Amino acid sequence: MSSVEQQSVSQSPPCAHHKHSVQLYGGDERLLAVNVAKYVATGLRQGEGVLVIASPEHTSAILNQIGLSGGGAVQAVEENRLILLDARSTLDLMTKDGQLDTALFQETIGGAVARLRGMPGAGRRAYGEMVGVLWERGDIAAAIRLEDIWNEFLTSAGLELYCAYPINVFEAEFQSTAVQKIIATHTHLIPTGEDGDLQRAIDRAMADFGGEHKRPPANSPLSAAVPEAEQTILDLNRGMPEHAGEILIRARRYYEAEKRFRALIENSADVILVENSRGEIEYASPSTARVLGYAPDGVTGRKAIDLLHPDDRARVKQAAAEAEANAFHASSFDARIVRNDGEYIWAEGSVTNLSDEPAVGGIVWNYRDITERKAAEDALRESERRLAARERHLQTLLDSMPDCVKVLDRNGGVLQMNRAGLDMLEADTAEQVIGKSVYPAIAEGDRARFQALNESVFDGGNGGSLEFTIRGLKGAQRIFETRVAPLYEGRDTVVGALSATRDITDRKAAEAALRQANESLQQFAYAAAHDLQEPIRNVILYTELLSKRYGGQLDGLAHEFMSVTVEGARRMQTLIEDLLAYTRSLDRPEHEQPLTDANEAFRDVVANLHTAIDSSGAEVLCEPLPQLPAYRAHVVQLLQNLTSNALKYRDGRRPHVELSSVERAGDVTIRVRDNGIGVPADQRERIFGVFKRLHGRDVPGNGIGLAICHRIVTHYGGRIWVESNEGAGSTFAFTLPRRAVS
Ligand code: ADP
Repeated sequence: MSSVEQQSVSQSPPCAHHKHSVQLYGGDERLLAVNVAKYVATGLRQGEGVLVIASPEHTSAILNQIGLSGGGAVQAVEENRLILLDARSTLDLMTKDGQLDTALFQETIGGAVARLRGMPGAGRRAYGEMVGVLWERGDIAAAIRLEDIWNEFLTSAGLELYCAYPINVFEAEFQSTAVQKIIATHTHLIPTGEDGDLQRAIDRAMADFGGEHKRPPANSPLSAAVPEAEQTILDLNRGMPEHAGEILIRARRYYEAEKRFRALIENSADVILVENSRGEIEYASPSTARVLGYAPDGVTGRKAIDLLHPDDRARVKQAAAEAEANAFHASSFDARIVRNDGEYIWAEGSVTNLSDEPAVGGIVWNYRDITERKAAEDALRESERRLAARERHLQTLLDSMPDCVKVLDRNGGVLQMNRAGLDMLEADTAEQVIGKSVYPAIAEGDRARFQALNESVFDGGNGGSLEFTIRGLKGAQRIFETRVAPLYEGRDTVVGALSATRDITDRKAAEAALRQANESLQQFAYAAAHDLQEPIRNVILYTELLSKRYGGQLDGLAHEFMSVTVEGARRMQTLIEDLLAYTRSLDRPEHEQPLTDANEAFRDVVANLHTAIDSSGAEVLCEPLPQLPAYRAHVVQLLQNLTSNALKYRDGRRPHVELSSVERAGDVTIRVRDNGIGVPADQRERIFGVFKRLHGRDVPGNGIGLAICHRIVTHYGGRIWVESNEGAGSTFAFTLPRRAVS
């Protein structure tokens, strides 16, 4: 600090007890807001009452800076810890006839200060811009007068004051006597720059002109404490007169460049560290605290390389050596950097040698936090790896399947096909098939249906199944059965028709052979039974003729032999008739529909069985029955066989027979319940076989009735069984599926 030799340039010199500071902010509104915010915040923190007399813009900038823009400010104002006044209108209030009026000042400012409510024992402080307003208006005399009024007031009010003038230290104005007079009314001139950057700029500019860092001797010592940098400017004309103007111009340029550079660094999301020639961190940007959690000066004095993960150091040292060898060259690297809490984060770093850049003068390390990006990359790699593995598994699975699995596009083009599919199409390589349409390979008669099914899944259909014939690439003709379903991407975008196709050529051939064999057997049985009727009839006829004509000549034993012969032959006759009935049981009239009103069929049954019903005194009840999906002859046959058995296998009581039905979505079940002798559990399957019965001759019958029922029901794809009743008797039930049968 320069020695303060009292020089009376003001009417009332500042009182040494009360700090009266001044800042020349020269248009640097940000610097002003930062400094005043510090001043106001310190006051409030110490419990002082604070008076702010500023323009509305400056007031809000200051409050924003201290983070009091919200409720905090309102509360401080409500409690009168903080009083905010508008500079211009307050100035008007204390002006009478164009002159500042001490009484009005006392009233306005004195009144406001009296209203301030600080903590007991705490001081009071004010920030004022009214003098700056007067200066701006060019009314320098009024500004000085107001400063004098303030000085008197400060002493009596025990107040600290901070004034601001929009004066630029780089402009000639700063060196005018008017400014000197203004400064003289204060106890302190607040430094214009931050952290000595103004001084650095001046030193650098002076060095440009002869490398002189020496300060010129102090001139016109002021009553106020003036910072070294501002004092240097004031003394420049005298100390280096030949270069003073140019030095000031350069100093301003350097100063503003550094300010811009500082603003960039301070607002950067990156961590920026500057290492000095001793390899120690000299500067760490504010983001060091944000990103790495260190206190602002927590890393200063340390070596940049020591902040890195031990495993990354050798690599980064190499990059640093490269950078050090080449001025202004930036070497990049990725490395882990340690946080204050000991955790490592991944950073994209660069090191640049800016030792020769006077504004920096060191090695600059720049780090960008890429932990999230690294994590995302790792996650992506992991999910890609898993996806690839899953795809491989799926492919292996598909390729090991005996069925053809394929995905077709809307036009039948093959998007994907597994190994079995290629084999089924007789393709040697996937290229022969992928991207090509399958339609031409499909038999002409099946092609339209195949195409319609394939297209339907792209139009919102659920797919379905189909049998079709296909000709392989080498000409083999096969029959396939396929099930097609839509393949979705997302919720409702169909990207393909997915199908599983099975070669059923062999099954079809086996089925045809079986059908053929069955038919032959059927024909054989029918022919045998039919042809046996004639000789049996002859046996009966001639045995009876023998008895009639030669009966008188034969003894009793011979008559008995003859009657056994006739009885056996008659029995054989009924067996043959039953066999014929069995082979014909599926016959039906042509042009009839396979749909029968079961109530009508039941009426026929009652008519056919009326003798048995009447003679047994049976009660035969029938609930209303539904339509049955079968031909009428078959329905009559079923109901009649079951009802007649229910009458026949009675247990001495009066027979009670009940017919009922249950309908479900896909089928219908008919039940015939009786109160007869019941069927032993171990015989319930057996009785549906041909000629299988549980009774001797005492009960008429051949064991063909249930076999016929079984044959009919099975023909329709249904099922027949017997249940035993709780009390006694049995319930015979059959189910017929509700689908058209040809
Ligand atoms: P059949 O009545 O000519 O013997 P079925 O094929 O109709 O031949 O019946 C086979 C056997 O099943 C019968 O012999 C009888 O033992 C048994 N059965 C059939 N219906 C009933 C019934 N309602 N109650 C008890 N047993 C029955």
